[in-house]
Amino acid sequence: MKDILCPICKEPMRNPVSVNCGHNFCENCIDQYFEKWSEVAKMLCPVCRVRNKKESIRLNWQLKSLVDKVILQTTRGCLSAEHPSAPAKSTYQWP
Ligand SMILES: [Zn+2]
Ligand SMILES: [Zn+2]
Repeated sequence: MKDILCPICKEPMRNPVSVNCGHNFCENCIDQYFEKWSEVAKMLCPVCRVRNKKESIRLNWQLKSLVDKVILQTTRGCLSAEHPSAPAKSTYQWP
């Protein structure tokens, strides 16, 4: 479960991307992170401080399917819990 959390935003990664050093981040997060480094053309991994090039970023399909599975399970659990079986009683009163 911990593996699917992005080290930057601490949320499950919707579009996980891998960088050179093998760490994974949301596509959005690493994009924003890269903006700060755009002038240097190289960036340090937020986790291990290894140098990465923007070209080395690639979508991690394996992780994506894992995250999607976990999110789906979590969402399903929430949905069933949010279904109170309260019957919709009509408060309408006949005149
Ligand atoms: Zn993130
Ligand atoms: Zn790293």
